[in-house]
Amino acid sequence: MCPGPNENGVNGQNGVSGQNGHSTDQATKKRAAAGPYQPVGDALSNIANFKIIESTLREGEQFANAFFDTETKIKIATMLSDFGVEYLELTSPAASPQSRADLETICKLGLKSKILTHTRCNMEDAKLAVECGVDGIDVVIGTSSMLQAHSHGKDMEYITRTAIEVIEFIKSKGIEVRFSSEDSFRSDLADLLFLYKAVDRVGVNRVGVADTVGCATPRQVYDLVRTLRTVVGCDIEIHLHNDTMCAVANAYAALEAGATHIDTSVLGIGERNGITPLGGLLARMIVSSHEYVTSRYKLHKLKEVEDYVAETVQINVPFNNPVTGFCAFTHKAGIHAKAILNEPSTYEIINPADFGIGRYIHFAHRLTGWNAIKSRVEQLGLAMNDDQIKILTNQIKAMADIRPLAIDDTDSVIRAFHFELQGEDVDKMNSTGALTVEN
Ligand SMILES: [Zn+2]
Repeated sequence: MCPGPNENGVNGQNGVSGQNGHSTDQATKKRAAAGPYQPVGDALSNIANFKIIESTLREGEQFANAFFDTETKIKIATMLSDFGVEYLELTSPAASPQSRADLETICKLGLKSKILTHTRCNMEDAKLAVECGVDGIDVVIGTSSMLQAHSHGKDMEYITRTAIEVIEFIKSKGIEVRFSSEDSFRSDLADLLFLYKAVDRVGVNRVGVADTVGCATPRQVYDLVRTLRTVVGCDIEIHLHNDTMCAVANAYAALEAGATHIDTSVLGIGERNGITPLGGLLARMIVSSHEYVTSRYKLHKLKEVEDYVAETVQINVPFNNPVTGFCAFTHKAGIHAKAILNEPSTYEIINPADFGIGRYIHFAHRLTGWNAIKSRVEQLGLAMNDDQIKILTNQIKAMADIRPLAIDDTDSVIRAFHFELQGEDVDKMNSTGALTVEN
C-alpha cells in the first residue's frame, strides 16, 4: 500500500514537520503536492542512488533446487549484465574446483557488470579469489555470539585482526573489497560498530550488514544502518533474507537510512526461502524513483531473466510475483475495470509498459461490468451499442453465477449474442428494405 499523505516523516526526522522550519499546514501542502509516491526527503537517503549486487550465482546457488552448470552460469551472468545490474556476485572459488573454473570463465567474458566473489575472511580464500581475476571480493565473517561460539569459535579481537589483514592484502592487489558481518542483527551493536570503524579506517570499500536469518523489521534495519552511516565513511551494503517477507521493505528502509548497495537474486532464490528479489526490489523502487530505475535498468528484460531462472531451477514464477506474476496487472471487479479503462493509474501504481508488459481486464466472471464487456467486444472487432452490451453483460453475469466461465466460453457467448443481433438486423432489413443502424 502507498503511504497516506500523513504517514511520511511525521516525527520530524525527515525535514517535513514543524520542528524543521515548516508549519504543519505548509508541510501538509508540500506532501500533497509531491504525492504519496515521492520518497521522504532526507540528505542521507539513497532511494534514488543505489547499486544492485546480483547474487543469483552465489546466494541463488544455495537455493534447494539450484544446479548451475557452466553454460547456465554464463547465460545468467550475461542476461543480468545486459539487464544493467552493477555487480554480479559468484560463489567462492574455494567451494569446489568447478566453482573456481566457472568464476575464471565469467571473469574473462568482459561483461559490463563488475564480478565479485564471496569468500570467508581468511588469507587463503582471498589469495585464491585474487588469482581468479575478479573485480572485487566480498569477505564475510560471523559476528553474533552464537556464531562466535558454535561456528568459527573466534573472538572479536581475532576477527578484527584478521579482517584488517585480509582487507589490506586485497587492497594491495588493486581490487575492491567489502567486509561484512554475518547475522548482524543478532550481533552485539558495540562489537559491530567497533569492527566496522576499524575496517573503514584501513580503507575498505564497503561494509556489509546481513540479516542472515531474516529476523529484522524495517525499523530495526533503518536504525542500524542510520547508526552505521554516522560511524563509517565507506559505502554500506545490505543483505536481507526473506523468512518473514520483509526483505523488500527492509531494503527500502536501508536505502532510506543511507545504505548504498542492495543484494538481490532473481525471484529471490537463495538459502531457505531466499533474499530480496530483484524484480520485487525494482517494483518498489520504480514507484519512488522512476527516472533513476528506468534510466539504469533494461526493465523489459526482467520477465525473460525470471522465466529463464525459474525454468533452470524448476519452479513456477509465483502468481503474486510483483510485475511478472500472471495476475500482476489483471483487473477484475467491474468498478476497477471501468476506472482502469478510463485512466489506468486509478488502480495501478506501476505502469506495466515500463516493463514491456500489458494489462488485462478480466471480464469472464460474475463481478464483471458492462465497461469491461464493451472493451472485450471491441477487442473482438464486433459492433454493438451500449444498450445491447448491457443486456449481454447481464446474460454473462447470470451464467457466471452458476459456474466458472472460461474466457473462450465468454467469447462464444459474446459472438452468439452478436450473431443474433445481426439476425435481427437482417429481419429488420427484410421488413423495411433498409438496415436500421443503431448507435
Ligand atoms: Zn544470504
